[in-house]
Amino acid sequence: MAYLGNAARTKEVLAKYNMSAKKKFGQNFLIDSNVLEGIVEAAGVTDKDCVLEIGPGIGSLTQYLAEAAGKVVAVEIDKTLIPVLSDTLSEYNNVTVINEDVLKVDIEEIVNKNNEGKPIKVVANLPYYITTPIIMKLFESGAPIESVTVMVQKEVADRMSAPPGNKDYGSLSLAVGFYADARAVMDVPPSSFIPQPGVGSAVVKLSRFLEPSVKVKDEKYMFEIIRTSFNQRRKTLSNSLSNNPSLGVSRQEVQDALLKMGIDEKARGEILSLEQFAELSDILQSRGAMLN
Ligand code: SAM
Repeated sequence: MAYLGNAARTKEVLAKYNMSAKKKFGQNFLIDSNVLEGIVEAAGVTDKDCVLEIGPGIGSLTQYLAEAAGKVVAVEIDKTLIPVLSDTLSEYNNVTVINEDVLKVDIEEIVNKNNEGKPIKVVANLPYYITTPIIMKLFESGAPIESVTVMVQKEVADRMSAPPGNKDYGSLSLAVGFYADARAVMDVPPSSFIPQPGVGSAVVKLSRFLEPSVKVKDEKYMFEIIRTSFNQRRKTLSNSLSNNPSLGVSRQEVQDALLKMGIDEKARGEILSLEQFAELSDILQSRGAMLN
């Protein structure tokens, strides 16, 4: 099989279809076989697995996945790539391509239909303009997903695994940490893509916990607290949380809750761990408004 994941073949395929990479869809095609092999290896794909690939592009990563997995379902938004994929993947009978926006598809239905509801692995070189919404959708969908191994912007990878107090620590670190263990797999330079992205990239593996990492009475309320805290990073928690009417709490109530937890009443969100946000949420929620 002639692999697509190199500069010459990628240019050849694009020329054959008179196409160029579309910026609006975040298209940066991988042309580095070491990186492609590294992604599939880190994902731990075996012939027992059903893999969901987001954004197959011209099929460079899909080829490697099709060889390692039992089955691959690839969701691609760009309809002009569909005939390209049926050409480049014609040798494989275990790949299904769906021409849809991944943010609009029903992930659970895909898993039920293609893997009898058993957990799947997600593997992708993600479009950078919607990395966070895609990752949040995967986790929040409730669909059985064992792991998510993805190429993202280096800066986003750093945010996913940052500890409290770190400059990169924020809502994304906490949201990812609620659902999964994040592991950095490798850094990838712009030269591994056509066209080259303006930023460095990294592969991360998110291995989903069987249960969320903390217990909290109302997840939505906690994540609203987290979002509010980091929207106004430089403000104290008592100022930022009391400024958000949907939380329904006063400055004094936030300060009392922090003191009860043994935290300085002037603390900012950036020093709180996920466990502490869960505790704060449980205390405040008993006073504040319920979010639906
Ligand atoms: N997997 C290919 C590779 O590694 O060479 C292409 C990766 S490229 C960074 C991102 C891909 O995601 C593109 O093919 C793009 O068209 C697709 N894409 C962008 N937005 C999407 C969306 N909302 N739903 C599904 N696919 C999307």
